[in-house]
Amino acid sequence: MRTPLIAGNWKMNCTLAEARELALAVVEAAKGLNDREVLLAPPFTALSATAKELAGESVILAGQNVAWEEKGAFTGEISPAMLKDVGAMAAIIGHSERRQIFGESEAMINARLRAALQAGLMGIFCIGESLEIREKGQADVEAWLKKQMEEGLRGVSAAAARRLVIAYEPIWAIGTGKTASQEQAQQAHAYLRLLLANMYDKSLAEEARIVYGGSVNPSNIDELMSQPDIDGALVGGAALDKEQFARIIQFQAAN
Ligand code: PEP
Repeated sequence: MRTPLIAGNWKMNCTLAEARELALAVVEAAKGLNDREVLLAPPFTALSATAKELAGESVILAGQNVAWEEKGAFTGEISPAMLKDVGAMAAIIGHSERRQIFGESEAMINARLRAALQAGLMGIFCIGESLEIREKGQADVEAWLKKQMEEGLRGVSAAAARRLVIAYEPIWAIGTGKTASQEQAQQAHAYLRLLLANMYDKSLAEEARIVYGGSVNPSNIDELMSQPDIDGALVGGAALDKEQFARIIQFQAAN
C-alpha cells in the first residue's frame, strides 16, 4: 500500500514572512490527513523559517536541489548534511528547470540523487518528455523515459532506491496550464513502474511512489489521484496559493 505524497515546490518565490504564512496555512490544512504525506520545498533561504513552522508537525521539509559532495569549494551548492541539519528530509533532483535553464546533465543529476539517497534523504527524481517527443508518439516517450531512468538511477542500489520518489513531469505541462490527461499520465506511470520492476524487482516497483507534476490544480487533482499508478503530485504554481494547495492536499480519489 503506497502512501500518497503531495509536494509543493515553491521555486524562487517567498520572502521569509511569506514562507512562514504559507507553511502555517499548509500545516493547518494538513491536520488530520493521516493517510497521505505533504511536503514543502521552499527556496534555500526560507528552509530554516519554514522548518520552525513545521516543527512537531507531519509536513515534510525538502530542498529544491542538493549537491553530491559533502562540503568544500562548491559555490552556490548545499550538501545533503546541510539539508538534514536544517530539518529537511527530502530533496527534489533533476527538475526540468534545473536541466533546461541551468544545464544540469544526466551525470550531475545521477550524482545528486545518489548522494541524497546515500545520506538517507528521500530523493524526488524528476523526469519527463518535451512536447516534441510527446508529439512523436508513445514509443518515443517511453524510449526517452527509459533513458532518463537508466541514466538517473545508474549505481543506485535497491536499498537506496527504497527512498526514491519518481516525479513524472512532462515538460510541456509544467507551468503551462496544460495538464497531461489522466490516461496519458496513468500510461506513463504504469510504464515507469514496469521499468522499476525490470531495473530492480517487482516488490520495489509496487512500493515505489510515482507522483505526477504539471499544472496540477484543485480541479484536476481528484481525477489524477483516482488513477491506480498515480501516487501523488508535485505542484508548482498552485502550491503558492494557500487555498488552492489546501484543496489539492485534501484530494479525494475515486477508488
Ligand atoms: C513543477 O515545477 O514541478 C510544476 C509541476 O509546476 P506547475 O505545477 O506550476 O506546472
